[in-house]
Amino acid sequence: MSQRYLSTRGSESGRSFEDVVMKGLASDGGLFIPEEIPSLPSSWESEWRDLSFAELAHRIMSLYISPSEIPSEDLKTIVEKSYSTFRHPERTPVAALDPKDNLYLLELFHGPTFAFKDVALQSLGNFFEYFLVRKNQGKTGKDRHHLTIVGATSGDTGSAAIYGLRGKKDVSVFILFPKGKVSPIQEAQMTSVLDANVHNLTVEGSFDDCQDIVKALFADPDINKTHNIGAINSINWARILAQITYYFYSYLSLTKSANYKAGTGVRVVVPSGNFGDILAGWFAKQMGLPISKLVVATNENDILDRFFRTNGHYTKKPLDAPTDAGVKETHSPAMDILVSSNFERLLWFFAFQTDKAATSDERRKHACESVSGWLSQLKTEGGFQVPAAIIEAAKAEFESERVSNQETIDIIRETYRNCIPTDLPAGSPRSSKTGGYILDPHTAVGIAASRRSIQRNPGDYHISLSTAHPAKFASAVDLALSKEDGYTFSEVLPEEFVGLEQRERRVTAVPHGAGWEGVREIVKAEVEQELEGRR
Ligand SMILES: *Cc1c(COP(=O)(O)O)cnc(C)c1O
Repeated sequence: MSQRYLSTRGSESGRSFEDVVMKGLASDGGLFIPEEIPSLPSSWESEWRDLSFAELAHRIMSLYISPSEIPSEDLKTIVEKSYSTFRHPERTPVAALDPKDNLYLLELFHGPTFAFKDVALQSLGNFFEYFLVRKNQGKTGKDRHHLTIVGATSGDTGSAAIYGLRGKKDVSVFILFPKGKVSPIQEAQMTSVLDANVHNLTVEGSFDDCQDIVKALFADPDINKTHNIGAINSINWARILAQITYYFYSYLSLTKSANYKAGTGVRVVVPSGNFGDILAGWFAKQMGLPISKLVVATNENDILDRFFRTNGHYTKKPLDAPTDAGVKETHSPAMDILVSSNFERLLWFFAFQTDKAATSDERRKHACESVSGWLSQLKTEGGFQVPAAIIEAAKAEFESERVSNQETIDIIRETYRNCIPTDLPAGSPRSSKTGGYILDPHTAVGIAASRRSIQRNPGDYHISLSTAHPAKFASAVDLALSKEDGYTFSEVLPEEFVGLEQRERRVTAVPHGAGWEGVREIVKAEVEQELEGRR
């Protein structure tokens, strides 16, 4: 079968994997999705059981990328290269956090920037490189296809993108972040990368201001005439695809543990913001991975939780809120969002699956129409309501939990005091004195949600996703643990972070009031300079 992609809003279909990776967003503003969700080979569980992470990624990606586009051997090379940068031999090891409650932690922070986004962005960088090398064979100078990536970040995306793209040929990466508003470690991570193709820009304002500038650049005909602008945020399909692997990997790890009893439910809990991570889990489940429920865990920016609790109202602000309060700043900043961009993909599939039309072509057309309608309502009216059949379908596969700031801090402390696992993966954050496990605040949101889910479903296995290393979010961790016995922050700090803040930095400050046009001129000038330096 040759795998093709369409836009959730209907104006594009039959696209190749290369097209969707290089473009990021469809021309109608929709997101790319596979025309068919592949199902698993019947003997997957025995055949895949003992594969390495990279081998598993290769099997799964092969179901979504036609070999006529990327020959199997090339895909294998891309995948192996992408995960060779991870510190742990298992890449995403599973820790038995609290085996008596069947609670497991999937540690996704063993990549170069200590956050789960590395799993996706290491491979996205290698996909870009592969396609560019192929396009540019035998070409020189100005004939070479050059990609200019522009992204906004409040921390994690920017550092993972920079580490995924540093030093790659024919691609420049520009990361905009709000001055003084990303954590000191994250700022140091980004700006201490001195490769010529990496460009950090600080903006006076908020993360939203940065994002508005990026959106304006994507829509600007002038820069699009001269530059190929590309995206690295989680609207890029390759990121979702890469994340499917660890759902399989963690399930198979669990079934291999001595504690595992076949036939018991397996629930997976995911700290969520833009809905990219958990959407990958839903694809895994659709393919046939036996997950009994996916649990969405949000912080106080809870649009997803409200969707489930209000029977399908998806609204920027709570229905009873008098005014538009905007995004709340929480202890888990990588989940501070007003709307979850990837939710559009899930809604498309539910609209398609619940539609009554006779042919799949008609159902597809109807799903695109519904999604376009909802998204334009979101823009004009601030929200929309989905039909009953869709919320029912969603509730059959998902549950949700909202975790407050106070609970986030409390659960970091409780976990430190009560979870003293005996057998942890190398590099797991714990106190060397008490053995207490140290959660980052995003992971803590997931653990708080897991605890509630365990109360309702005692005996079921819970795999809770750990999305970042606590050293990246020092202030929240200190707030929770500074008075605890045996805790010192410096002990949690990985050696890679020691001295990071003193290293040489390169960053361009966007002048006050320069606006998006000012940023455009900076981008043009820095790309020009970078290419001059190469020639
Ligand atoms: C990005 C991020 C999340 C949220 O993931 P989504 O795919 O946006 O739902 C959670 N935790 C951390 C640490 C992150 O960086």
